[in-house]
Amino acid sequence: MNQSTSPKTLLAIFAHPDDEAFGTGGMLALNASRGHTTALVTATRGEVGEISDPNLADPENLGQVREQELRNAADALSVGELVILNYRDSGMDGTDDNKHPQALAQADADEVVGQLVAIIRRLKPDVIVTFDENGGYGHPDHIAIHKHTVAAYDASGDSSRFVDEGEPWNPQRLYYAVFPRSTFVRMRALLEENGEDTSELDGFEENDLGWPDDVIHGVIDVSGFLDAKWAALNSHKTQFGPDHLFNRIPVESAKTLMRQEYIFQAAPEPPEDVTYSDVFEGLDS
Ligand SMILES: [Zn+2]
Repeated sequence: MNQSTSPKTLLAIFAHPDDEAFGTGGMLALNASRGHTTALVTATRGEVGEISDPNLADPENLGQVREQELRNAADALSVGELVILNYRDSGMDGTDDNKHPQALAQADADEVVGQLVAIIRRLKPDVIVTFDENGGYGHPDHIAIHKHTVAAYDASGDSSRFVDEGEPWNPQRLYYAVFPRSTFVRMRALLEENGEDTSELDGFEENDLGWPDDVIHGVIDVSGFLDAKWAALNSHKTQFGPDHLFNRIPVESAKTLMRQEYIFQAAPEPPEDVTYSDVFEGLDS
């Protein structure tokens, strides 16, 4: 198994409450259970997200409601430390929310990177995980947090950068949490079997959407932590209503899709043909 024996630190950095749940919820819970330190940075409170049920929130208090949902999800995943940055959800390109002065997508890069560097230098993570360069599906905040995390990973070990933000620290690896094309194809098949509308996922069968299955460096089996992961998803009630893809297939099928989480190693370049089964596999202890 090559599981590392000494306690290590996993830091996940995302844009919105709920970004952590599907792609990394299992690895957060699993590593906490193994005695490692886990931490989650969420850059916004998701002020512009869905409201699955008007009884849960309104557009004015959605950020506040989602902050509590995130805290509940982090508890469900036994996240050791949750840090919420004070940026605002940017919504989609071309909307007024996207031009809001507090919008993450408009934020000064050095300001965001400086905050991430300070967190990295304080928590001293061995590995960091964030979105890929397309942010999974192109949300402007996902792309922004990807860029800032990559910049912070590069800067945190450099003693000439952000000199007021703590002692330099070099995390050993930067990963992207990715969603392989095959997962979307399986999801589409499950919707079809259950007589549900597949239009949201139709492109995955014919096109090159999703992360290529042969460019993955780690498959993490989180099947022992499906209840925690399911609880985390369900904590995000405003986002996880009856229309959510996972709620349109039987619970057991949805959980089956969540049994594996996938990582791409962005830095440093991994050995050829590596397939980690653990985020800390092969690190110096
Ligand atoms: Zn998001």
